[in-house]
Amino acid sequence: MSLRIPEAAPVSQIAPERRGPAVARFCHGCQQLYPLLRARHVGRAIYGRDLVTSTCSYEGMAFGHEATWWEEAVEVLPAVAAPAAAA
Ligand SMILES: [Zn+2]
Repeated sequence: MSLRIPEAAPVSQIAPERRGPAVARFCHGCQQLYPLLRARHVGRAIYGRDLVTSTCSYEGMAFGHEATWWEEAVEVLPAVAAPAAAA
C-alpha cells in the first residue's frame, strides 16, 4: 500500500484558483513527488510511477531553493463552479 495523500500536481500545471497548500516536491527528472520534510532527493517517492527503471539523475541532491529541477507540488482543489449568471 502506498501512502494516501491528496491529489497533488506541480504548481505550474495547476490553474491558480485550484492551487491548495503545498504538499510535496515534484522532481522534473523522474516526475515523482517527494515529501516536503525530506531535504534531499533520496528514498521512495510518495506519489508517482511504482516502477522506475533508471535512477533519477537528481538522486541524492538537495532540494535547494536555487535548484531548478524541482518545484513545489500543491494539493489540487476541486474545480470552482462557474458563477451563475447574474439575476
Ligand atoms: Zn527525480
